Amino acid sequence: MDLNLDFNSQPLENDNAYDVVIIGGGPAGATAAIYTARADLKTLVIDKGLTAGALGLTAKIANYPGVPGEISGADLLKTMREQAQSFGAIFTADKVQAVDLTGETKTIYANGGTYTARSIIIATGSMGRGQRVKGEDELLGRGVSYCATCDAAFFRDQVVAVAGNSDEAIEEALFLTKFVQRVHFLSPTPELKAESHMIEEITAHSKVTLHLGTVLREVLGTNRVEAVRVAQRGKAEEIIPVTGAFIYLQGGKPVTDFLQGQLPISDTGCLVVDKEYQTALPGVYAVGDVLCNHVKQAVIAAAEGAVAAIAIEKNLHHRKQLAADWAK
Ligand SMILES: Cc1cc2nc3c(=O)[nH]c(=O)nc-3n(C[C@H](O)[C@H](O)[C@H](O)COP(=O)(O)OP(=O)(O)OC[C@H]3O[C@@H](n4cnc5c(N)ncnc54)[C@H](O)[C@@H]3O)c2cc1C
Repeated sequence: MDLNLDFNSQPLENDNAYDVVIIGGGPAGATAAIYTARADLKTLVIDKGLTAGALGLTAKIANYPGVPGEISGADLLKTMREQAQSFGAIFTADKVQAVDLTGETKTIYANGGTYTARSIIIATGSMGRGQRVKGEDELLGRGVSYCATCDAAFFRDQVVAVAGNSDEAIEEALFLTKFVQRVHFLSPTPELKAESHMIEEITAHSKVTLHLGTVLREVLGTNRVEAVRVAQRGKAEEIIPVTGAFIYLQGGKPVTDFLQGQLPISDTGCLVVDKEYQTALPGVYAVGDVLCNHVKQAVIAAAEGAVAAIAIEKNLHHRKQLAADWAK
C-alpha cells in the first residue's frame, strides 16, 4: 500500500502531461503559476506573448502593492513570471487554439504542441476582438489566417499582410519571413507595443515593410485574398495587393473563442464560476479579466489566480487522498 501522498508520487504519463496547464500568463495566470508550482504541481503556462495582454501592454503601473514608483506593465509581468519559474513553472510562448474539456484529463491544443492536464486555469484576459474586419470572415481559410506557424508554408514566395502591434504579431511576422517574399506589417498604432529587441528586429528586417499608424479596413478578394484596403491617418486609403492576411488585432472582449462553447456562458456572455473560480466543469477554472464581472485591476486578477491555484492544490490533494484510501 502506497501512503505517499506527495503530488509527484504518481508519475505523469509523458513530457506533455501536466498537473496544471494555465492558459494565459498575465497577472492572473502568472500568480496562479507561483502558487501551483510552489505546491509542487507540475505547471505549464501557455502564453501568446509578453505584450499580448492588458498588463503587458500597459506603459506604466504605479498601484501594484509592494512595487513603489512607476514600472512598465511588461517589467512587472516579467518579475511575476520569473518568480513562478523559480518555483518550477514552465512558460511557453504559444497560442492555444482549442481545448477538449470532457473527461478527467483535459487536452490543450496549441500551435506548437498538444498538452494534457488534470486541471486547467483559463486566464486569457479580455483583449479579444468583437467586430471583424470587412471580408475577414468570408475569406477565413482562403488567405485569412490567425496562425503563421500553421499556415506560413502555404504562402511561400508570396506577399502577405500582418495586422497587429504586439509581440505576438511581430513574432508571427518574423516567422513568415522564412517563407514569404514580403510582409506588409500593419500596426494600428504609431508605435509598436512590444519588447525593444523585437521592435529592432522587425524594423531592420529586409523582407518587412512597416506601415505604422495604419488600420486594416478590409480584406479584398473573390474566392481568395487578393489585397487589403488600409487607412493611415491624414492620407488617402491604399490598396496593397497580398495573397495572405494574418490578423493579430486586439479588442475589449473576454478571450474565450478557443473554448468553442464547452463552458456555460451567462446571459450577459460571461463565463460562470463559483467562489473558488471553478467553472461548471470540475477541474476547469477561470480567473482575471476573462471574467467580465471582475474589477479590471492587476492586483485583483493576481488575487483570483491565487484563489484558484489554492483550490486546485486542495482538490488534487483530495483526489490523491481518496485514491490512497481506496487502495487500503
Ligand atoms: C491601458 C491599460 C492600463 C491599465 N492600467 C492599470 C493600472 O494602472 N493598474 C492596474 O492594476 N491595472 C491596470 N490595467 C488593468 C490590468 O492590466 C488588467 O486588469 C490585468 O492585466 C488583467 O490580468 P489578466 O491576467 O486577467 O489578463 P491579461 O493581463 O490581459 O493577460 C492575459 C494573457 O493571456 C494571453 N492569452 C490570451 N489568449 C491566449 C491564447 N489563446 N493562448 C495563449 N495565451 C493567450 C495573453 O498573451 C496575455 O498575456 C490596465 C489595463 C490597460 C489595458
